[in-house]
Amino acid sequence: MSTLSQPFFPHVLLGAYLLGVLGDDEERTFTEHLAACSTCQRDLDAAQHLPQLLSLTDGANPSEDGRRQP
Ligand SMILES: [Zn+2]
Repeated sequence: MSTLSQPFFPHVLLGAYLLGVLGDDEERTFTEHLAACSTCQRDLDAAQHLPQLLSLTDGANPSEDGRRQP
């Protein structure tokens, strides 16, 4: 039985990992790969900031300038 590192398979799990749709075996495979893969770590970090950026945009308050003063 060979447990040679797979050259590309874990990388493609990143998207599914972010979506939380990995099975137990796949998630374990990916997390083990992630611990040793700076590329996936960087991609994961960048991807995890996207929802925050969207939230910041959504949380912008454009009404300040339009608010009436009594
Ligand atoms: Zn990777």
